[in-house]
Amino acid sequence: MELLRGALRTYAWGSRTAIAEFTGRPMPAAHPEAELWFGAHPGDPARLETANGEVSLLDALVADPEGQLGPASRARFGDVLPFLVKVLAADEPLSLQAHPSSAQAVEGFRREERRGIPVSSPVRNYRDTSHKPELLVALQPFEALAGFRQAAGTSELLQALAVSDLDPFIDLLSDQSDADGLRALFTTWITAPQPDIDVLVPAVLDGAIQYVSSGATEFASEAKTVLELGERYPGDAGVLAALLLNRVSLAPGEAIFLPAGNLHTYLRGFALEVMANSDNVLRGGLTPKHVDVPELLRVLDFTPTGEEQLRPPLRREGIALVYETPTDEFAVSLIVLDGDHLGHEVDASCRHDGPQILLCAEGSATVHAKGGALTLERGAAAWFAADDGPIRLAAAQPTKVFRATVGL
Ligand SMILES: [Zn+2]
Repeated sequence: MELLRGALRTYAWGSRTAIAEFTGRPMPAAHPEAELWFGAHPGDPARLETANGEVSLLDALVADPEGQLGPASRARFGDVLPFLVKVLAADEPLSLQAHPSSAQAVEGFRREERRGIPVSSPVRNYRDTSHKPELLVALQPFEALAGFRQAAGTSELLQALAVSDLDPFIDLLSDQSDADGLRALFTTWITAPQPDIDVLVPAVLDGAIQYVSSGATEFASEAKTVLELGERYPGDAGVLAALLLNRVSLAPGEAIFLPAGNLHTYLRGFALEVMANSDNVLRGGLTPKHVDVPELLRVLDFTPTGEEQLRPPLRREGIALVYETPTDEFAVSLIVLDGDHLGHEVDASCRHDGPQILLCAEGSATVHAKGGALTLERGAAAWFAADDGPIRLAAAQPTKVFRATVGL
Protein backbone atom coordinates (compact mmCIF):
# COMPACT_ATOMS: atom_id res chain seq x y z
CA MET A 1 0.00 0.00 0.00
CA GLU A 2 1.45 3.30 -1.15
CA LEU A 3 0.26 6.71 -2.24
CA LEU A 4 0.15 6.79 -6.03
CA ARG A 5 1.16 9.98 -7.77
CA GLY A 6 -0.64 10.38 -11.10
CA ALA A 7 1.09 11.32 -14.36
CA LEU A 8 -0.22 14.67 -15.56
CA ARG A 9 -0.94 15.11 -19.28
CA THR A 10 -1.35 18.57 -20.73
CA TYR A 11 -3.39 18.90 -23.93
CA ALA A 12 -4.93 21.98 -25.53
CA TRP A 13 -8.48 20.81 -24.65
CA GLY A 14 -7.70 20.54 -20.92
CA SER A 15 -8.50 22.85 -18.02
CA ARG A 16 -6.25 25.25 -16.12
CA THR A 17 -8.37 24.87 -13.00
CA ALA A 18 -10.19 21.51 -12.64
CA ILE A 19 -7.30 19.11 -11.96
CA ALA A 20 -5.29 21.74 -10.05
CA GLU A 21 -8.24 22.42 -7.77
CA PHE A 22 -8.96 18.69 -7.33
CA THR A 23 -5.39 17.93 -6.29
CA GLY A 24 -4.88 21.06 -4.17
CA ARG A 25 -2.34 22.83 -6.38
CA PRO A 26 -2.29 26.57 -7.24
CA MET A 27 -4.69 27.81 -9.88
CA PRO A 28 -4.68 28.64 -12.69
CA ALA A 29 -2.17 26.03 -13.83
CA ALA A 30 0.59 27.04 -16.24
CA HIS A 31 -0.83 24.77 -18.99
CA PRO A 32 -4.25 23.31 -19.77
CA GLU A 33 -4.26 20.08 -17.74
CA ALA A 34 -6.30 17.39 -19.49
CA GLU A 35 -5.62 14.02 -17.86
CA LEU A 36 -4.10 12.55 -14.74
CA TRP A 37 -3.12 8.92 -15.33
CA PHE A 38 -3.11 6.42 -12.48
CA GLY A 39 -1.80 3.23 -13.96
CA ALA A 40 1.20 1.37 -15.33
CA HIS A 41 0.91 2.44 -18.95
CA PRO A 42 4.43 2.36 -20.45
CA GLY A 43 3.77 5.76 -22.03
CA ASP A 44 3.30 7.46 -18.66
CA PRO A 45 3.28 5.28 -15.55
CA ALA A 46 2.14 6.65 -12.19
CA ARG A 47 4.66 6.66 -9.33
CA LEU A 48 4.51 4.97 -5.95
CA GLU A 49 5.61 7.08 -3.00
CA THR A 50 7.71 4.59 -1.05
CA ALA A 51 9.90 5.00 2.05
CA ASN A 52 12.88 4.98 -0.33
CA GLY A 53 11.53 7.65 -2.67
CA GLU A 54 9.35 7.46 -5.76
CA VAL A 55 9.18 4.26 -7.80
CA SER A 56 7.44 3.83 -11.15
CA LEU A 57 4.42 1.55 -10.79
CA LEU A 58 5.55 -0.12 -14.00
CA ASP A 59 8.94 -0.98 -12.45
CA ALA A 60 7.22 -2.25 -9.28
CA LEU A 61 5.06 -4.64 -11.34
CA VAL A 62 8.08 -5.92 -13.24
CA ALA A 63 9.99 -6.50 -9.98
CA ASP A 64 7.21 -8.48 -8.25
CA PRO A 65 4.35 -9.43 -10.59
CA GLU A 66 2.98 -12.16 -8.31
CA GLY A 67 2.82 -9.99 -5.21
CA GLN A 68 1.57 -6.90 -7.01
CA LEU A 69 -0.93 -8.39 -9.48
CA GLY A 70 -1.84 -11.71 -7.88
CA PRO A 71 -2.37 -15.09 -9.59
CA ALA A 72 -5.83 -14.49 -11.11
CA SER A 73 -4.91 -11.29 -12.94
CA ARG A 74 -1.57 -12.74 -14.09
CA ALA A 75 -3.23 -15.89 -15.44
CA ARG A 76 -5.64 -13.85 -17.54
CA PHE A 77 -3.64 -10.74 -18.51
CA GLY A 78 0.01 -11.59 -17.96
CA ASP A 79 2.38 -9.33 -16.07
CA VAL A 80 0.67 -6.04 -16.91
CA LEU A 81 -1.98 -4.02 -15.11
CA PRO A 82 -5.01 -4.58 -17.36
CA PHE A 83 -6.71 -1.26 -16.61
CA LEU A 84 -5.89 2.44 -16.58
CA VAL A 85 -7.55 5.03 -14.32
CA LYS A 86 -7.70 8.61 -15.55
CA VAL A 87 -9.03 11.83 -14.14
CA LEU A 88 -10.16 13.79 -17.18
CA ALA A 89 -10.80 17.56 -17.39
CA ALA A 90 -12.21 18.82 -20.70
CA ASP A 91 -12.79 22.52 -21.28
CA GLU A 92 -13.23 21.85 -24.99
CA PRO A 93 -14.65 18.94 -27.04
CA LEU A 94 -12.48 15.90 -27.71
CA SER A 95 -12.38 14.09 -31.06
CA LEU A 96 -15.22 12.05 -32.53
CA GLN A 97 -14.02 8.51 -31.91
CA ALA A 98 -14.67 4.83 -31.38
CA HIS A 99 -12.62 1.88 -30.14
CA PRO A 100 -12.25 -1.58 -31.69
CA SER A 101 -13.35 -4.95 -30.37
CA SER A 102 -10.62 -7.42 -29.35
CA ALA A 103 -10.85 -9.26 -32.68
CA GLN A 104 -10.70 -5.99 -34.65
CA ALA A 105 -7.73 -4.81 -32.58
CA VAL A 106 -5.76 -8.02 -33.19
CA GLU A 107 -6.51 -7.91 -36.93
CA GLY A 108 -5.78 -4.18 -37.23
CA PHE A 109 -2.53 -4.40 -35.26
CA ARG A 110 -1.25 -7.23 -37.47
CA ARG A 111 -2.28 -5.41 -40.65
CA GLU A 112 -0.42 -2.23 -39.64
CA GLU A 113 2.62 -4.27 -38.56
CA ARG A 114 2.68 -5.93 -41.99
CA ARG A 115 2.53 -2.49 -43.63
CA GLY A 116 5.54 -1.44 -41.58
CA ILE A 117 3.87 1.56 -39.88
CA PRO A 118 5.90 2.24 -36.72
CA VAL A 119 3.88 1.83 -33.49
CA SER A 120 4.84 5.38 -32.49
CA SER A 121 3.77 6.91 -35.83
CA PRO A 122 1.00 9.53 -35.56
CA VAL A 123 -0.86 7.76 -38.39
CA ARG A 124 -0.86 4.40 -36.61
CA ASN A 125 -4.40 3.37 -35.54
CA TYR A 126 -3.69 0.15 -33.64
CA ARG A 127 -0.87 0.50 -31.12
CA ASP A 128 -1.67 -2.77 -29.31
CA THR A 129 -3.91 -5.82 -29.66
CA SER A 130 -6.43 -4.96 -26.94
CA HIS A 131 -9.96 -3.64 -27.06
CA LYS A 132 -10.60 -0.46 -25.08
CA PRO A 133 -13.95 -0.48 -23.28
CA GLU A 134 -14.37 2.71 -21.24
CA LEU A 135 -16.39 3.64 -18.17
CA LEU A 136 -16.77 7.36 -17.52
CA VAL A 137 -18.09 8.54 -14.14
CA ALA A 138 -18.80 12.25 -13.72
CA LEU A 139 -16.98 13.96 -10.83
CA GLN A 140 -18.56 17.30 -11.78
CA PRO A 141 -21.32 17.83 -14.38
CA PHE A 142 -20.17 16.18 -17.61
CA GLU A 143 -21.47 16.58 -21.16
CA ALA A 144 -20.98 14.06 -23.95
CA LEU A 145 -22.30 12.74 -27.22
CA ALA A 146 -22.46 8.94 -27.23
CA GLY A 147 -24.17 6.19 -29.21
CA PHE A 148 -26.49 6.56 -32.19
CA ARG A 149 -29.95 7.87 -31.34
CA GLN A 150 -33.02 5.94 -32.58
CA ALA A 151 -33.62 6.92 -36.24
CA ALA A 152 -37.13 8.28 -35.50
CA GLY A 153 -35.72 10.73 -32.94
CA THR A 154 -32.99 11.83 -35.34
CA SER A 155 -35.57 12.38 -38.11
CA GLU A 156 -37.52 14.62 -35.74
CA LEU A 157 -34.39 16.58 -34.88
CA LEU A 158 -33.41 17.06 -38.53
CA GLN A 159 -36.96 18.15 -39.40
CA ALA A 160 -37.04 20.56 -36.46
CA LEU A 161 -33.96 22.33 -37.86
CA ALA A 162 -36.04 23.09 -40.99
CA VAL A 163 -33.12 22.98 -43.44
CA SER A 164 -34.27 21.99 -46.91
CA ASP A 165 -30.79 20.70 -47.78
CA LEU A 166 -31.36 17.99 -45.15
CA ASP A 167 -34.49 16.54 -46.79
CA PRO A 168 -32.77 13.87 -48.92
CA PHE A 169 -30.83 12.71 -45.86
CA ILE A 170 -33.95 12.39 -43.73
CA ASP A 171 -35.32 10.06 -46.41
CA LEU A 172 -32.34 7.74 -45.88
CA LEU A 173 -33.52 7.16 -42.32
CA SER A 174 -37.13 6.36 -43.16
CA ASP A 175 -36.55 3.92 -46.03
CA GLN A 176 -34.73 1.12 -44.18
CA SER A 177 -33.96 -0.38 -40.78
CA ASP A 178 -32.56 1.97 -38.14
CA ALA A 179 -29.04 0.54 -38.27
CA ASP A 180 -28.96 0.52 -42.10
CA GLY A 181 -30.33 4.06 -42.25
CA LEU A 182 -27.85 5.37 -39.69
CA ARG A 183 -24.99 3.60 -41.47
CA ALA A 184 -26.05 5.10 -44.83
CA LEU A 185 -26.47 8.61 -43.42
CA PHE A 186 -23.29 8.65 -41.33
CA THR A 187 -21.23 7.16 -44.17
CA THR A 188 -22.64 9.66 -46.67
CA TRP A 189 -21.81 12.62 -44.47
CA ILE A 190 -18.41 11.53 -43.17
CA THR A 191 -17.18 10.69 -46.71
CA ALA A 192 -18.84 13.62 -48.51
CA PRO A 193 -16.62 15.80 -50.75
CA GLN A 194 -15.45 18.97 -48.99
CA PRO A 195 -17.43 21.33 -51.29
CA ASP A 196 -20.66 19.53 -50.24
CA ILE A 197 -19.73 19.80 -46.55
CA ASP A 198 -18.95 23.48 -47.03
CA VAL A 199 -22.55 24.00 -48.18
CA LEU A 200 -24.33 21.65 -45.80
CA VAL A 201 -22.60 22.55 -42.50
CA PRO A 202 -23.34 26.31 -42.76
CA ALA A 203 -26.95 25.51 -43.73
CA VAL A 204 -27.31 23.27 -40.66
CA LEU A 205 -25.72 25.92 -38.44
CA ASP A 206 -28.19 28.50 -39.76
CA GLY A 207 -31.02 26.09 -38.99
CA ALA A 208 -29.66 25.57 -35.48
CA ILE A 209 -29.45 29.33 -34.87
CA GLN A 210 -33.05 29.76 -36.03
CA TYR A 211 -34.15 26.85 -33.85
CA VAL A 212 -32.44 28.16 -30.71
CA SER A 213 -33.59 31.74 -31.21
CA SER A 214 -37.18 30.57 -31.75
CA GLY A 215 -37.20 29.55 -28.08
CA ALA A 216 -38.02 25.90 -28.91
CA THR A 217 -36.82 23.58 -26.17
CA GLU A 218 -37.08 19.95 -27.33
CA PHE A 219 -33.76 19.86 -29.19
CA ALA A 220 -32.21 23.04 -27.78
CA SER A 221 -29.16 21.33 -26.25
CA GLU A 222 -28.57 19.32 -29.45
CA ALA A 223 -28.78 22.52 -31.54
CA LYS A 224 -26.45 24.44 -29.22
CA THR A 225 -23.94 21.59 -29.31
CA VAL A 226 -23.91 21.63 -33.10
CA LEU A 227 -23.33 25.40 -33.03
CA GLU A 228 -20.42 25.01 -30.61
CA LEU A 229 -18.82 22.25 -32.68
CA GLY A 230 -19.40 24.18 -35.90
CA GLU A 231 -17.69 27.25 -34.49
CA ARG A 232 -14.68 25.25 -33.37
CA TYR A 233 -14.40 22.95 -36.40
CA PRO A 234 -15.90 24.78 -39.39
CA GLY A 235 -15.97 22.58 -42.48
CA ASP A 236 -15.72 19.34 -40.46
CA ALA A 237 -18.22 16.60 -41.34
CA GLY A 238 -18.06 15.56 -37.68
CA VAL A 239 -20.35 18.53 -36.96
CA LEU A 240 -23.07 16.76 -38.96
CA ALA A 241 -22.31 13.39 -37.41
CA ALA A 242 -22.87 14.94 -34.00
CA LEU A 243 -26.56 15.29 -34.95
CA LEU A 244 -26.88 11.50 -34.91
CA LEU A 245 -25.64 10.87 -31.36
CA ASN A 246 -27.36 10.94 -27.98
CA ARG A 247 -26.72 14.19 -26.11
CA VAL A 248 -25.83 12.98 -22.60
CA SER A 249 -25.63 15.12 -19.44
CA LEU A 250 -24.20 13.39 -16.37
CA ALA A 251 -24.52 14.61 -12.78
CA PRO A 252 -21.70 13.75 -10.33
CA GLY A 253 -21.65 9.98 -9.70
CA GLU A 254 -23.58 9.17 -12.90
CA ALA A 255 -21.78 7.10 -15.52
CA ILE A 256 -21.78 5.88 -19.10
CA PHE A 257 -20.13 2.70 -20.37
CA LEU A 258 -18.80 2.74 -23.93
CA PRO A 259 -18.41 -0.72 -25.48
CA ALA A 260 -16.51 -1.49 -28.69
CA GLY A 261 -17.88 0.29 -31.75
CA ASN A 262 -19.69 3.03 -29.81
CA LEU A 263 -19.22 6.42 -31.49
CA HIS A 264 -18.65 9.16 -28.92
CA THR A 265 -17.15 12.53 -28.18
CA TYR A 266 -16.70 14.17 -24.80
CA LEU A 267 -17.82 17.80 -24.85
CA ARG A 268 -16.81 19.22 -21.49
CA GLY A 269 -16.64 18.45 -17.79
CA PHE A 270 -14.64 16.69 -15.09
CA ALA A 271 -14.74 12.92 -14.75
CA LEU A 272 -13.10 9.70 -13.71
CA GLU A 273 -12.42 7.35 -16.61
CA VAL A 274 -11.45 3.70 -16.27
CA MET A 275 -10.53 1.71 -19.36
CA ALA A 276 -8.69 -1.33 -20.59
CA ASN A 277 -5.00 -0.50 -20.87
CA SER A 278 -4.97 0.24 -24.62
CA ASP A 279 -4.30 3.13 -27.00
CA ASN A 280 -6.53 1.96 -29.84
CA VAL A 281 -8.56 4.96 -31.01
CA LEU A 282 -10.20 5.48 -34.41
CA ARG A 283 -11.08 9.09 -35.07
CA GLY A 284 -13.66 10.50 -37.47
CA GLY A 285 -13.20 14.24 -37.03
CA LEU A 286 -13.44 17.20 -34.64
CA THR A 287 -9.70 17.01 -34.01
CA PRO A 288 -6.37 18.11 -35.45
CA LYS A 289 -5.10 14.54 -34.77
CA HIS A 290 -4.95 11.66 -37.24
CA VAL A 291 -8.39 10.81 -38.69
CA ASP A 292 -9.03 7.50 -40.48
CA VAL A 293 -12.63 7.39 -41.69
CA PRO A 294 -12.50 4.04 -43.55
CA GLU A 295 -11.04 2.35 -40.47
CA LEU A 296 -13.60 4.03 -38.20
CA LEU A 297 -16.40 2.74 -40.47
CA ARG A 298 -15.03 -0.81 -40.12
CA VAL A 299 -15.45 -0.82 -36.35
CA LEU A 300 -18.59 1.27 -35.80
CA ASP A 301 -21.72 -0.31 -34.40
CA PHE A 302 -24.72 1.45 -35.98
CA THR A 303 -27.32 -0.22 -33.78
CA PRO A 304 -29.18 2.63 -32.08
CA THR A 305 -28.57 2.84 -28.34
CA GLY A 306 -30.84 4.70 -25.96
CA GLU A 307 -29.11 6.85 -23.39
CA GLU A 308 -30.45 4.60 -20.62
CA GLN A 309 -28.61 1.64 -22.22
CA LEU A 310 -25.34 3.54 -21.92
CA ARG A 311 -25.77 4.02 -18.19
CA PRO A 312 -24.46 0.96 -16.31
CA PRO A 313 -26.69 -0.52 -13.62
CA LEU A 314 -25.53 -0.07 -10.02
CA ARG A 315 -25.22 -3.01 -7.64
CA ARG A 316 -24.57 -2.80 -3.91
CA GLU A 317 -21.68 -4.95 -2.66
CA GLY A 318 -20.94 -4.41 1.02
CA ILE A 319 -20.26 -0.74 1.49
CA ALA A 320 -19.57 -0.16 -2.22
CA LEU A 321 -21.83 0.69 -5.15
CA VAL A 322 -20.55 -1.25 -8.15
CA TYR A 323 -20.95 0.14 -11.67
CA GLU A 324 -21.82 -3.08 -13.48
CA THR A 325 -19.77 -3.42 -16.65
CA PRO A 326 -19.16 -6.54 -18.77
CA THR A 327 -15.38 -6.12 -18.58
CA ASP A 328 -12.72 -8.56 -17.38
CA GLU A 329 -10.06 -5.84 -17.38
CA PHE A 330 -11.67 -3.62 -14.76
CA ALA A 331 -14.43 -3.17 -12.21
CA VAL A 332 -15.26 0.21 -10.70
CA SER A 333 -17.15 1.02 -7.55
CA LEU A 334 -17.91 4.01 -5.36
CA ILE A 335 -17.56 3.82 -1.60
CA VAL A 336 -19.61 6.47 0.20
CA LEU A 337 -18.80 7.08 3.86
CA ASP A 338 -21.40 9.18 5.64
CA GLY A 339 -23.93 8.97 8.49
CA ASP A 340 -23.38 5.83 10.56
CA HIS A 341 -20.17 5.03 8.67
CA LEU A 342 -18.32 8.04 10.06
CA GLY A 343 -15.97 7.97 13.03
CA HIS A 344 -14.95 4.29 12.96
CA GLU A 345 -13.26 1.73 10.70
CA VAL A 346 -15.42 0.20 7.98
CA ASP A 347 -14.68 -3.01 6.06
CA ALA A 348 -14.02 -2.11 2.42
CA SER A 349 -12.67 -5.41 1.15
CA CYS A 350 -13.84 -6.49 -2.28
CA ARG A 351 -14.58 -9.75 -4.04
CA HIS A 352 -11.51 -9.68 -6.26
CA ASP A 353 -8.10 -10.62 -4.90
CA GLY A 354 -6.14 -8.60 -7.45
CA PRO A 355 -4.58 -5.14 -7.24
CA GLN A 356 -6.66 -2.06 -6.44
CA ILE A 357 -6.42 1.69 -6.95
CA LEU A 358 -8.40 3.91 -4.59
CA LEU A 359 -9.03 7.56 -5.49
CA CYS A 360 -10.55 9.98 -3.01
CA ALA A 361 -13.08 12.22 -4.77
CA GLU A 362 -14.49 14.01 -1.75
CA GLY A 363 -13.63 14.35 1.94
CA SER A 364 -10.71 12.45 3.45
CA ALA A 365 -10.22 8.83 4.49
CA THR A 366 -7.69 6.88 6.49
CA VAL A 367 -6.99 3.55 4.81
CA HIS A 368 -5.81 0.55 6.84
CA ALA A 369 -4.29 -2.47 5.12
CA LYS A 370 -1.47 -4.93 5.68
CA GLY A 371 1.58 -2.89 6.54
CA GLY A 372 -0.08 0.12 8.15
CA ALA A 373 -2.27 3.06 7.34
CA LEU A 374 -2.25 6.09 5.08
CA THR A 375 -4.48 9.10 4.61
CA LEU A 376 -6.19 9.81 1.32
CA GLU A 377 -7.13 13.44 0.86
CA ARG A 378 -9.40 14.64 -1.94
CA GLY A 379 -7.63 14.21 -5.28
CA ALA A 380 -5.16 11.64 -3.93
CA ALA A 381 -4.87 7.99 -4.95
CA ALA A 382 -3.31 4.89 -3.46
CA TRP A 383 -2.10 1.58 -4.86
CA PHE A 384 -2.84 -1.72 -3.14
CA ALA A 385 -0.92 -4.76 -4.27
CA ALA A 386 -2.79 -8.06 -4.52
CA ASP A 387 -1.01 -9.27 -1.40
CA ASP A 388 -1.92 -6.19 0.67
CA GLY A 389 -4.97 -8.06 1.99
CA PRO A 390 -8.33 -6.62 3.06
CA ILE A 391 -8.80 -2.86 3.29
CA ARG A 392 -10.54 -0.92 6.05
CA LEU A 393 -11.52 2.74 5.74
CA ALA A 394 -12.22 5.40 8.34
CA ALA A 395 -13.52 8.92 7.76
CA ALA A 396 -14.50 11.75 10.08
CA GLN A 397 -16.41 13.72 7.41
CA PRO A 398 -18.60 12.69 4.45
CA THR A 399 -16.21 11.04 2.01
CA LYS A 400 -16.37 9.45 -1.42
CA VAL A 401 -13.71 7.03 -2.63
CA PHE A 402 -13.63 5.34 -6.03
CA ARG A 403 -12.12 1.89 -6.36
CA ALA A 404 -10.81 0.34 -9.56
CA THR A 405 -9.78 -3.29 -9.63
CA VAL A 406 -9.62 -6.19 -12.05
CA GLY A 407 -13.09 -7.23 -13.28
CA LEU A 408 -12.65 -11.02 -13.40
ZN1 LIG B 1 -13.11 6.99 -26.19
